[in-house]
Amino acid sequence: MSAIICPHCKNPIYDEDALLCHYCGNSLARVSSGAVGKMRAAGMKWVLVALGVITLVITIIMFQ
Ligand SMILES: [Zn+2]
Repeated sequence: MSAIICPHCKNPIYDEDALLCHYCGNSLARVSSGAVGKMRAAGMKWVLVALGVITLVITIIMFQ
């Protein structure tokens, strides 16, 4: 049985027909939100990592 992960509070909901999260009451985005949400989160993480590295490189260059 597959769980739906709430996009708001990240709790797993084991009711396939649930429209609202049992934990926080927000509506569940049903359109394969699990995979897309995870991919988007991973993408955002790498953007932040890239920004961090760029900032670090610029700082190193500036202080030379
Ligand atoms: Zn929730």
